[in-house]
Amino acid sequence: LVRLCLLWLVLVQPHFVAAQKKTIDQRVDSLLQLMTLEEKVGQMNQYSGPWAHTGPITEDGNILQQVQEGKLGSMLNINGVAHTKELQTLALKSRLKIPLLFGQDVIHGYRTTFPIPLGEAASWDLEAMEQSARVAATEAAASGIHWTFAPMVDISRDPRWGRVMEGAGEDPYLGSLIAKARVKGFQGNKLGDINSVMACAKHFAAYGAAIGGRDYNSVDMSDRTLWEIYLPPFKAAAEAGVATFMNSFNDLNGVPASASSYLQRDILKGKWNFTGFVVSDWGSIGEMIKHGYVKDCYEASQAAVMAGSDMDMESRCYTQNLVHLVKEGKVPETVIDDAVRRILRKKFELGLFEDPFRFCDVKREQQALNNPKHKAIARDVAKKSVVLLKNNNNVLPLSKQAKTIAIIGPLAKSERDMLGFWAVDWPDSSYIVSQFEGIQQKLGNNSKLLYAMGCNIEDNSTSGFAEAIEVAQKADVVLLSVGERRDMSGEAKSRSTIHLPGVQEELIKAIKATGKPVVVLINAGRPLIFNWTADNADAIVYTWWLGSEAGNAIADVLFGDYNPAGKLPMTFPRSEGQLPIYYNFLNTGRPAENDKDRFYRSAYNDLSIYPKYAFGYGLSYTNFKYDNLKLSAETMNMDGKITLSFSVTNTGNYTGEEVVQLYLRDEFASLVRPVKELKDFKKILLKPGETKEINFVIDKEKLSFYNQKLEWVAEPGTFQVMIGSASDDIRLKSKIELR
Ligand code: BGC
Repeated sequence: LVRLCLLWLVLVQPHFVAAQKKTIDQRVDSLLQLMTLEEKVGQMNQYSGPWAHTGPITEDGNILQQVQEGKLGSMLNINGVAHTKELQTLALKSRLKIPLLFGQDVIHGYRTTFPIPLGEAASWDLEAMEQSARVAATEAAASGIHWTFAPMVDISRDPRWGRVMEGAGEDPYLGSLIAKARVKGFQGNKLGDINSVMACAKHFAAYGAAIGGRDYNSVDMSDRTLWEIYLPPFKAAAEAGVATFMNSFNDLNGVPASASSYLQRDILKGKWNFTGFVVSDWGSIGEMIKHGYVKDCYEASQAAVMAGSDMDMESRCYTQNLVHLVKEGKVPETVIDDAVRRILRKKFELGLFEDPFRFCDVKREQQALNNPKHKAIARDVAKKSVVLLKNNNNVLPLSKQAKTIAIIGPLAKSERDMLGFWAVDWPDSSYIVSQFEGIQQKLGNNSKLLYAMGCNIEDNSTSGFAEAIEVAQKADVVLLSVGERRDMSGEAKSRSTIHLPGVQEELIKAIKATGKPVVVLINAGRPLIFNWTADNADAIVYTWWLGSEAGNAIADVLFGDYNPAGKLPMTFPRSEGQLPIYYNFLNTGRPAENDKDRFYRSAYNDLSIYPKYAFGYGLSYTNFKYDNLKLSAETMNMDGKITLSFSVTNTGNYTGEEVVQLYLRDEFASLVRPVKELKDFKKILLKPGETKEINFVIDKEKLSFYNQKLEWVAEPGTFQVMIGSASDDIRLKSKIELR
């Protein structure tokens, strides 16, 4: 290696030092001029490695040959410095020595695993989310990874869709802020920094609106909904300087996203002026054949490249067809040049031409992957992601002096399930803290912690109930850890039934019948349905999949070392029959019976119109009082502003955080407008008895929407102002007039 470095310093480095004086665009252009068509097309291909930390990099000799010939731009799923170095060394043997890009799904952590993104979204804590992405980037970069396929910014209103776990929930405003925070976290101040990786906003677009919540399904949607609900987080990511976009598997109104010029050329690279590159989703270019949109890989390549898909992830269509397509006059070489320029530009920005190994060495990798500070950050984000759904008679927080506590349930001792879907799988699990372990550590020798599994997650056997009941009877309080296995929500994990799986709710009933106080911990990758538990348990803590520090974070919450403040980023239904269900719906012309809000919402005769838990909902160990709403004015002009001020007081006994939410409603407009839309929020910390003055500023931007012509406009008229603790818990109301 030392020899290799010396060789590089002597022979190649001077060339690059000279080149550095040029701008990146000039360097890209000079390089492009040296490239053959085959080499250009090579840059537009991405293949997968074996996803393993040990063993050979790939069994496919063909791939290695292409790397050495300079006919491959990027690989994904190459793990660890040893592997990336080996491949990069090979790439540097090619004629033009263009380094490879290594991509990976670093979705919620690399080694240190953070809560699943939907869980983190429940923290409404943008700084915390930025920081977790930063740590993930630091660890991944030290392992030789340049590029993460995250954040997923798909809005979804249907928890049957397994990938809701990977996004930020249902709201375009919250989703946009989170998209920005995550892009900033992954990319840092600039791509060339040692701890930065390129981010990738995915899946462009509307993948989360798959019909029926079935993964990969078609999407059929009006432009208005696309622009108002599904595109904002993508736009926010582009504005935050995200380096790459990934397109999506679905068709949108009949056109597969990979072939959509409307999405990729008109909107992304046109209106939004995006200068990065677009990678296809895994095999999505080839899948257009199965969609019935193109006949073969040749046509698929033509359609995709013309529509602005710059890199082909694993369908291997580009590698076989683009050269022919250019030679046969079906694709102008300028289109290829544009794609290659975009890809090369990122390689230069990353500093790969200066240091193809991106400063990575085994020592740095080891340090980054075993950094105790990263664990502390993971624990902090994890506790912030917990949502307290119910707490009757203040069962929680538990006293550390409680004599005997039982933890029962199939997830109580589970380690890997705590990581959730899309976690990088490491051979050992020593770094994962189970709930049993976290609670035991918190208790020390003060109390006794009993355990029984009770049942499995999915099968229907109740044979473990008797033992669980016996254990419960010996305890002063029972914790029940239930939910989903980590592979039950995620890609291709759509489910028609999202009730607590198996006999877990039966187990809760059996334990509740002992008369002991029951605290239910629900670990899941999506909103689940658990109506009996919601109505009968003493307390419910929604823990999502909290990551490698799950057990510690849950113990912090249960014993009051941290007062939970999470708020739901997605509506929780009471029945699958309500889906899709979301808070920002449009009124109909008919009132539903018993609608306490007097909305004109559409309804079923045999099912409540209300969700079980609303968007923005979440309790604390303390209470907050909102009062004293004052408006700086009641009317404003288009260029004006109105400041809302009000006070929030902590009226309980614990220090706590509250997410104060501002919703607006346009009463009459040229299009039917949602009954409320989140437009601002603040997360505040209050000591018992403390009052804080909060301000929100309303300007034209907050009152604007896409009209029928898709223009972003504010229309004069009356707007309702609603401030509250959840979308269904509005504490202060007023109206303003826009002139
Ligand atoms: C997923 C992407 C992911 C890619 C690479 C696809 O199946 O849809 O989100 O980045 O695989 O693993």
